Amino acid sequence: MPVKKALIIGAGIAGIATAIRLAVKGYQVNVFEANSYPGGKLSEFEQEGFRFDAGPSLFTMPQYVDELFRLAGKNPAEFSSYQKLDVVCRYFYEDGTRLNAYADPEKFAAEINQQTGEPEASVKKYLKNSSNIYSITSHVFLEQSLHRLKTYLNWGTVQSVFRFPQIDAFRSVHKANESFFKDERITQLYDRYATYNGSNPYSAPATLNVIPHLEQHYGAYFPEGGMYSIVTSLVKLAESLGVVFHYNSPVDEIILEKQTAKAIRIKDDVMLGDVIVSNMDVWFTYHRLLKDHPRLFPKKILKQERSSSALIFYWGINKQFAGLHLHNIFFSADYRAEFDHIWQQKAIYHDPTVYLNISSKYKPDDAPQSCENWFTMINVPANTGQNWDKLIVAARQHILTKLSRILGQDIGSLIISESILDPRSIESKTSSYQGSLYGTSSNNQFAAFLRHANKASQIKNLYFCGGSVHPGGGIPLCLLSAKIVSDWIA
Ligand SMILES: Cc1cc2nc3c(=O)[nH]c(=O)nc-3n(C[C@H](O)[C@H](O)[C@H](O)COP(=O)(O)OP(=O)(O)OC[C@H]3O[C@@H](n4cnc5c(N)ncnc54)[C@H](O)[C@@H]3O)c2cc1C
Repeated sequence: MPVKKALIIGAGIAGIATAIRLAVKGYQVNVFEANSYPGGKLSEFEQEGFRFDAGPSLFTMPQYVDELFRLAGKNPAEFSSYQKLDVVCRYFYEDGTRLNAYADPEKFAAEINQQTGEPEASVKKYLKNSSNIYSITSHVFLEQSLHRLKTYLNWGTVQSVFRFPQIDAFRSVHKANESFFKDERITQLYDRYATYNGSNPYSAPATLNVIPHLEQHYGAYFPEGGMYSIVTSLVKLAESLGVVFHYNSPVDEIILEKQTAKAIRIKDDVMLGDVIVSNMDVWFTYHRLLKDHPRLFPKKILKQERSSSALIFYWGINKQFAGLHLHNIFFSADYRAEFDHIWQQKAIYHDPTVYLNISSKYKPDDAPQSCENWFTMINVPANTGQNWDKLIVAARQHILTKLSRILGQDIGSLIISESILDPRSIESKTSSYQGSLYGTSSNNQFAAFLRHANKASQIKNLYFCGGSVHPGGGIPLCLLSAKIVSDWIA
């Protein structure tokens, strides 16, 4: 039998993982990437002696990365190593409360009780609920396609369906969290997890309360070489399996013959493939690469609300802060107002919740001596044409005022190097429609079913992986999309 050829559009984390899986299955795989580097949103850059991971900074579920090495018959430890974090995050509240989110659930419950008075039992009950939702949903919603009959003819799915009332899909994340906790600070802490897939805790279904389980039970990690080392080690693995990466190769068209995807075109070059997988945002795949076939567009799906985006300031800071950890959150005093601004007004609140990631805490050579590399991020709406230049100037000032007040230092005067990423640049650098971080939002209870499938319904031989399709955004889910799509193809 001749070797089958797979063409993958995009070398984001899901594109790379799909390439590995298909190569293991015996495909000859070529990956075409528009940028000069692999990784898409998961990239890195240097700036005046500071190194920054440009996108993701929180690494959970490393087992999905390790699985790729094992599939290829390799020992993951020879390629990469990750350190489990004891303190996952340090929280700062405007009322002066400080909290360490310990990885150990007992210790975390005790810390919450000590700092806020919330009973330890409430935290434990909450985490049990989170684990229960995971046990019902992971098998159905995360590890399989929702668009194949096979999924529903499976005993595990049937068992999960009987337990669906327990997944809490009909009230919001916030409503559910309020019912677990007396203390508003703890409700706010757990509401924040809805932002892990770019959603609004005041409207997203409480099923998303599964997310704390992933972090608390499986842990959060720091890859030894920084987040980007996940990409470099996987590309190395893919290349060892014969995958060929073509950089600076933006695909212009997917060529169809009678509703079957036959080839891709880059400028005047046409490459034939037995199967084509797009890791490019599904919205742009249709609107750019299939623009001559609008009748084949899944119109309803493409009209869905996008997830939120981000505004990031990469600051080289001329000082080290002993009271800060790898991950830090400075909460807004009024969380509801903050989300109303993002989702209703499509604007930025004057007191945003600030996420501060400092990789030099774990990897000192990411910053010059006595300095730190601050990845300072706030959630913002997706790009629908706002006046970003104006919004960025105001947000920068608000963030600096907030951090300076809480840390007791004039932070602005410590910045010795700066660059900015906003929804427009996220869109242009990674072709993510409206600069959304996680594809479509999960702001309603049917979102999981409305996300685009891993296969085109109207075009044969065209498949999809990555954050804009099932099961959704974030590194772990993107890696699962690669698994689902390669199993489907095979
Ligand atoms: C600022 C930020 C913070 C985040 N934080 C986290 C976090 O802490 N933890 C987490 O798990 N996730 C986080 N995420 C989300 C995570 O980064 C994404 O869900 C994930 O990396 C998306 O991977 P993907 O496979 O969908 O591909 P993408 O990263 O979207 O890459 C798609 C690739 O396709 C290429 N491409 C597009 N069009 C073409 C074309 N025509 N031809 C060829 N190539 C093309 C692009 O250049 C790009 O390289 C964050 C994202 C951002 C931006």
